[in-house]
Amino acid sequence: MATDLQLLAAAIRDIPDFPKPGIVFKDITPILSDGTLFHRSVGELLKLPFYNEPIDKVVGIDARGFIFGAALADRIGAGFIPMRKKGKLPWTTREQSYALEYGEATLEVHADAINPGERILLIDDLLATGGTAAAAMTLIEQMGGSLIGMGFVVELSFLNGREKLGTHPVESLLIY
Ligand code: AMP
Repeated sequence: MATDLQLLAAAIRDIPDFPKPGIVFKDITPILSDGTLFHRSVGELLKLPFYNEPIDKVVGIDARGFIFGAALADRIGAGFIPMRKKGKLPWTTREQSYALEYGEATLEVHADAINPGERILLIDDLLATGGTAAAAMTLIEQMGGSLIGMGFVVELSFLNGREKLGTHPVESLLIY
């Protein structure tokens, strides 16, 4: 019988040349649209070795990181912080620019979203070059958050994203 991780891997759809020629986009929407698979994907994130001590807040990255991050936060009883692409958050923000696998962008977070000393878990759907997660890491640490780890559904390990993430624990459900 297939394991939950095998079922997740089988559901992810590879879309060649999206959003640019040469990029193979890992489309996780088939996981989301299947109630059992979505529940199990969050269940797999719950098995990662991050939960020895309580987590105060889960940070999710715009946009697919919101989906997994918020579902995980609800299951562990943590708060949820959206890190958004520039221009979306209404109040005072802190921002950090970064290079993407396909372009450049700026992440923003509300200036009061994280209090010094809070234990923060960072969640995104996919780790590619690591630029996005590194920008999120910088913002969390500048605000005094204690980043206890980073979890991803998918990691494209050939892009060496982990190298940008310092000594923080990094865990991914599916590594390509
Ligand atoms: P990076 O900053 O290069 O690690 O890119 C990670 C961010 O871009 C994540 O928020 C992903 O959702 C998105 N992303 C980058 N590359 C891909 C890809 N091949 N398939 C799906 N999403 C991607």
